Amino acid sequence: MLLEGKSGVVFGVANKRSIAYACAKAASAHGARLILTYQGERLARGVAELADGLPGEAIALPCDVNTDEAMDESVAAISEHFGGKVDFAVHSIAFANREELVGRFSDTSREGWTTAQLISAWSLAGLAKRITPLMTDGGSIVTMSYMGAEKVVPHYNVMGPAKAALEASVRYLAHDFGPSNVRVNAVSAGPVRTLAAQGISGFSTMLDICAARAPLRRNIETSEVADVTVFLLSDMSRAITGATIHVDNGFSITAL
Ligand code: NAD
Repeated sequence: MLLEGKSGVVFGVANKRSIAYACAKAASAHGARLILTYQGERLARGVAELADGLPGEAIALPCDVNTDEAMDESVAAISEHFGGKVDFAVHSIAFANREELVGRFSDTSREGWTTAQLISAWSLAGLAKRITPLMTDGGSIVTMSYMGAEKVVPHYNVMGPAKAALEASVRYLAHDFGPSNVRVNAVSAGPVRTLAAQGISGFSTMLDICAARAPLRRNIETSEVADVTVFLLSDMSRAITGATIHVDNGFSITAL
């Protein structure tokens, strides 16, 4: 039980395939009290049911990172539920317009770039700024990245620079909040079939190539991302901050 006595928020649950849900399941099994957040009313019932089904105490609340007001309201509700103290947060939110995830990166529109950066990268800083004042006894924040931040992955396009910005933000946030004993890290996950992944053209090919070439010769499961996330949320990783840890069966170390 690595998270016994800790309270935390998992941002970005859409359904049972979400990496966020796998993280919630693992954190709950490790004794955490949880809030699962979802983007809009359309997801409310499904995510509330997922929260109810967890082994530990958990509720669902809305959090849309599209506006400052919605983020303020969400963090105020989180603070109220947990009595003003939070120990950890998982940021598992990304978005790019579907038309940006086909064809060439050089065709990225101004609006498509801005949307991807705001939702997928800036939202980490926006949420961290709001939630770290509640981490009065130190804390840990983990976000989800992808190898497209470091290397070219065909069709990942605008999300590549968004994930690069996310990983750089992890380092800057770790620097900002380190003196308050708040750690900030990223998990760079291998490809896994989720709602968000459906938008990337050629995703099945990505899965096939990874399974064939990764040193461990298989694709990852969301539970494997979740286990590393629990480690990063727990005191076991108390000297790790600003890091991006690959959970990809080693695919990112290969060249050919
Ligand atoms: P998912 O679709 O289950 O999760 C994405 C979440 O982002 C959804 O819950 C969605 O509602 C939320 N979101 C989008 N716009 C939002 C907004 N404006 N406000 C609040 N929430 C918003 O898919 P997933 O694959 O579990 O994605 C979670 C994270 O993992 C993302 O950052 C994604 O880039 C990352 N990731 C995914 C993979 C993969 O192959 N699936 C690999 C590496 C990293």
